[in-house]
Amino acid sequence: MRIFQTPRVVVSQCLEFEEVRYNGAVIPDKTVQRMKPFVEFIPVCPEVGIGLGVPRDVIRIVDQGQERLVQPKTGEDLTDDMVHFAKEFIDSLPDVDGFLLKNRSPTCGIHDVKVYQDSQHGQVIGKTTGFFAKEILSRHSGLAIEEEGRLKNFTLRHHFLTKLFTLADFRDVRQKGRSKDLQQFQALNKYLFMAYHPGISKKMGRVIANHEQKPIPAVFEEYEDLLYELLEKPPKAKANVNVCQHIAGYFKKELNREEKAYFQSLLNQYMEEKVPLSAVISVLSTWTARFQSDYLRNQTYFEPYPMELVEISDSGKGRAYS
Ligand code: SF4
Repeated sequence: MRIFQTPRVVVSQCLEFEEVRYNGAVIPDKTVQRMKPFVEFIPVCPEVGIGLGVPRDVIRIVDQGQERLVQPKTGEDLTDDMVHFAKEFIDSLPDVDGFLLKNRSPTCGIHDVKVYQDSQHGQVIGKTTGFFAKEILSRHSGLAIEEEGRLKNFTLRHHFLTKLFTLADFRDVRQKGRSKDLQQFQALNKYLFMAYHPGISKKMGRVIANHEQKPIPAVFEEYEDLLYELLEKPPKAKANVNVCQHIAGYFKKELNREEKAYFQSLLNQYMEEKVPLSAVISVLSTWTARFQSDYLRNQTYFEPYPMELVEISDSGKGRAYS
């Protein structure tokens, strides 16, 4: 059984943790709830952090030539306080692997935060990123960063969790600082990385081979940048098919014609979004156990994060099954 490192994740405190929303509420969040036993969460509420109370008057982003964070009722401009808090908070963090933030908040939201024309009127003139989230993205864009709302989508959730646990593993390897651990990390992730991006994965292999005899810290640095690039977007379905065919190729002498045909039809159904990738992978896992391939059994592709976090529900937006 795979042993997972515990990822460290900064989370908006109003998600599942504390009643810190402007109206004194806390938001129940199933994903955060499930993750709690497997993740070290660092909860933060930046609005409370800059001294706003609970409950408090709402704040919003307005366009005054540039975006500003204001509290319409008091007329206060909180932009500088928030930027200062965000910088100090990020500086004070230990090494973290990801951020899980509340959506649509003028502070924590990443994608769809409303920009108002002014502080007094309700006209929305655009969408932006919250002030706290903006600082995170500018400093840690390579980490696993998501909004709770988007994690209702199966593909995005699978990608977020895969990235999070892969980065936590890498953090452990980087702390040890030994090239043999880095080689092992690359070997265990071979098929996962191939699904994400075969070209970048090959480059990572060349970095580890280190023909130029660079110092180890430089090798780790270069490798880390490539790892962030590799994990930027979820793998495409076609890339997953490619990897599954590759793995099935290990058993081509052992499998009979019917088994091969069944597997091919399963891959077709996956491409047509009729079955999830997990259905294909479970057949491969069975063969791996049956033909006793330790090399394949240890591949992270079969279990990129703890099974207890697998949840097949989906918001229906975008491809349901990765
Ligand atoms: S969204 Fe962010 S700032 Fe708003 S209550 Fe939640 S943690 Fe606090």
